[in-house]
Amino acid sequence: MKTPKIVILGAGYGGLITSRQLEKSLSDGEAEVTLINKHDYHYISTQLHKTGAGTASDDKIALHIPNLLKTNKIHFKKGTVQNVDFGKKKVYLDSGDKIEYDYLLISLGFDVATFDIPGVEENAFKIKSFQSTKAIYNHILRQFAAYKIDSDPSRLTFAVAGAGFTGIEMVGELIEALPNLCRAYDIPFSKTRIITIEACPTILPGFDQEAIDFTTTYFKKNNVELMTSTKIRKCSPTSIDLDNGEVLPSKTLIWAAGVRGNFLLEKLNLPISRGRIPVDEFLRVKGVENVFCIGDAALCMKDEKNALPPTAQVALQQAVLCGPNMIASLRGEPLKPFMYHHKGTVASIGNKVAVGKVFGLKISGSFAALMKQVIEARYLLMLGGPSLIIKQLLKIKKPYT
Ligand code: FAD
Repeated sequence: MKTPKIVILGAGYGGLITSRQLEKSLSDGEAEVTLINKHDYHYISTQLHKTGAGTASDDKIALHIPNLLKTNKIHFKKGTVQNVDFGKKKVYLDSGDKIEYDYLLISLGFDVATFDIPGVEENAFKIKSFQSTKAIYNHILRQFAAYKIDSDPSRLTFAVAGAGFTGIEMVGELIEALPNLCRAYDIPFSKTRIITIEACPTILPGFDQEAIDFTTTYFKKNNVELMTSTKIRKCSPTSIDLDNGEVLPSKTLIWAAGVRGNFLLEKLNLPISRGRIPVDEFLRVKGVENVFCIGDAALCMKDEKNALPPTAQVALQQAVLCGPNMIASLRGEPLKPFMYHHKGTVASIGNKVAVGKVFGLKISGSFAALMKQVIEARYLLMLGGPSLIIKQLLKIKKPYT
């Protein structure tokens, strides 16, 4: 009998932890597993805001995928997925390679939603991938260098669109990064501005009032300008037009105002809802044989009306089940339904403070920041065991790299 082929698309939270499950549970020679990813590194998406502000070293955020695979049960292939033919059971890569599968996992993650606001797609900086956030940091460095020459204040006006989870985390890192950059470039800190623009009447929609109040006070203390109930009408490379008629001169708009499923999903001729692929209770794509989908790419319902949010927490819990369910599929055993257990949410505001709720307990300040580190360490533990945590702890940020 032919050895079944399992193919995993995307080595993010969902794809990598599913690979880990397969490594653990597949018997030798039971299946050929191929993990395909655009780059040969896995970026820790939940920390991309740090790359954007330059507050973490690159090697802390981007990890070499072959080093993370523990056994030779998983074959890693670097490549960009262009399409999938579900009839022929083939994945097409940009290199022209065609990869056959018997069982497929789509874990291609998210894209940034810009809501067709004129100029945003072309001019705003996206918190989307390691490369896109590295581009933010390089742009910020260029603005500091250019300010020394032309003293144009719009260069040091940093606007962040969206004061939800990601936007708040981005602002928190900028609060920590800008004083250091001012020192490095010998520019008075008073010349910099951080502006948060949020369409909702409040920051951190969905968080408790205590978290909102803590964050608002912290932002005020650090001179962050908060514009709530304010929509961006359009943006250019040098300005941001707001719905209150104001035009902000700024060369940096960082977009943290929404995510959706990877744009590629729309090309796959599968049913799509809210930019994501609807899945059944076993995490299988409805209507196609032996295809699973998890993480931000999947629309997984929490109840009849509400979908689970696109979070790492959901992706990880799905991955822990998806690996065994793929194995059960190939062994002809019964699959288990996915049950999500929400453990809490913690948003960091820089390195030193955070806000959120863990197991129903509201937390803020330095204790919350510690909890955030525990959550991050837990992921590293799942990914590479205690040795990966130690390796990551030993990596120190070199200034301005
Ligand atoms: P991803 O982790 O995004 O992985 C997708 C992978 O697919 C990537 O490696 C990508 O390179 C690859 N890929 C994409 N397209 C292709 C292609 N065409 N071909 C080949 N490979 C491709 N969630 C939380 O629960 N807690 C948090 O604190 C939190 N903080 C966040 C902070 C930030 C700044 C951001 C941006 C997100 C945060 N999230 C958080 C959300 C979380 O990061 C995502 O929900 C999670 O990454 C989803 O995992 P995934 O496996 O679906 O996708």
